[in-house]
Amino acid sequence: MAKVDVLISGAGPVGLTMANELARYGIAVRIVDKTAERTDKSKALVLWSRTLELFDHAGYVEPFLAAGMQAHGAQMSNGKDVIASISLDDIESVYPYALMIPQSDTERVLEEQLAKRGVKVERTVGLESFTDQGNQVQAVLRKASGESETLTADWLIGCDGAHSTVRHGLGFTFDGTTQPSDWYLADGHISGLEPQDRLHIFWHKDGILAFFPITEGRWRVIADLGPAQGDAHCPDPTLQEVQALITLRGTDGIVIKDAYWLAAFRINERKVSQYGSGRAFLVGDAAHVHSPAGGQGMNTGMQDAFNLDSYSVERSAVGDMVLRNASRLTDAAIIRNPIAQGVRNTVVKFALGFPQLVHRVADMLAELDIGYPKSPLTVAGAHHPSARKAGERWPDRLPADPGKARFTAIGPAGVVSALAAKFPTLVQAAPASADAKDLRLVRPDGYVGFAGAESDQAGAEAYLHNLAAR
Ligand SMILES: Cc1cc2nc3c(=O)[nH]c(=O)nc-3n(C[C@H](O)[C@H](O)[C@H](O)COP(=O)(O)OP(=O)(O)OC[C@H]3O[C@@H](n4cnc5c(N)ncnc54)[C@H](O)[C@@H]3O)c2cc1C
Repeated sequence: MAKVDVLISGAGPVGLTMANELARYGIAVRIVDKTAERTDKSKALVLWSRTLELFDHAGYVEPFLAAGMQAHGAQMSNGKDVIASISLDDIESVYPYALMIPQSDTERVLEEQLAKRGVKVERTVGLESFTDQGNQVQAVLRKASGESETLTADWLIGCDGAHSTVRHGLGFTFDGTTQPSDWYLADGHISGLEPQDRLHIFWHKDGILAFFPITEGRWRVIADLGPAQGDAHCPDPTLQEVQALITLRGTDGIVIKDAYWLAAFRINERKVSQYGSGRAFLVGDAAHVHSPAGGQGMNTGMQDAFNLDSYSVERSAVGDMVLRNASRLTDAAIIRNPIAQGVRNTVVKFALGFPQLVHRVADMLAELDIGYPKSPLTVAGAHHPSARKAGERWPDRLPADPGKARFTAIGPAGVVSALAAKFPTLVQAAPASADAKDLRLVRPDGYVGFAGAESDQAGAEAYLHNLAAR
């Protein structure tokens, strides 16, 4: 019977990110997908700053940057009246923007990277069932031809989307709701929107109309249609119906033509209560689905994939937070009562007049505000450093560390090289940094695991001894 370290079920953006990360660390992986081809739809359009930082650290951010387009902010309007703007220019990242890129391109880049590491997605191969045998998982794969294959894997990772076979196999419930309102979506060529490097959101009394730039001249537009009429799903719109909504809710002169994709959808907000059990894990949409408001579903899933340790406890809390924020954004967007709409518009206009608040909103969207202060992997030394505490994100580029998942020691040169020499498989030394007064151990996923004072070498060593014993 064939044997592999890790079997990944599902080759969407999250499964492909996971496969790349594992292959980068030299772990033998097989990745299967039941479909014949990757998606040709634009679905998730945004790669946020934090996700770009993680791809940078993994050594393959460039092809995403080459394929995408930078968006520098968002503008909320009521007809011609601009209510508020949010700029992303000041976020503290080497990528201070949202990278707009169709999900079809994101998956293409990820699949190409994976092929460079010698791993090919096995298509028209579905995970049918699995049994956790305690020290390994036995999985049954079914090919389109009807032929089946049984294999064993040390670990099974379910990246198989909202209807996950792995989640069903674990018997986990997917608690949450389907919102009782219908939405239209169109992806096509649109003229008449300026400036073109930002999102445009129109808050009309009949509902929201939002435009997202995809590539030059190509935009995604979505509009909410109000309370659903029964359980039956609304049919997909025609181009004329979308244009009618644009004319009613936007400003004069916005014209859509040449649609690539027209669809009606409803928003699901669901999450499992734990991200794995025994030898099987759930990652991405298999574990959590969100409102598209904020564009965080795929990004959160990809960031799950970069977090291979202390997984459930850290990422489940992040999943809760992203769901809450996306849900609040959606609720604010679909308010129907005219008095409440007036209050919303006034409050947003007032609040976004404060640069500090704009900065916080931008950080939340870019997923730069995520931290793990309470994680079991977070330890503060005897003396707290002045900045970047344990559990916080490390904002600077980390030295590339091909083929190994090691902590980066940052601090006084002598201490840092002593740690790297003593724990060669766990620690790499950062080149001398300007901030050499504090001592930090930055995790492979870019968060500060240990933070102490310059003199805290013993604390750092205790931290590493504990890790080695895990
Ligand atoms: C209209 C729309 C707009 C969106 N906009 C955004 C956005 O702007 N930003 C954002 O972050 N997110 C957005 N999303 C969400 C985003 O598309 C998802 O979060 C993302 O696709 C999840 O990736 P995934 O890899 O977890 O799952 P999926 O993309 O669903 O991939 C799962 C894969 O598993 C395969 N599979 C399923 N079952 C099996 C099985 N038994 N065996 C083998 N393979 C299997 C499927 O064929 C599929 O390829 C949007 C989604 C939609 C529909």
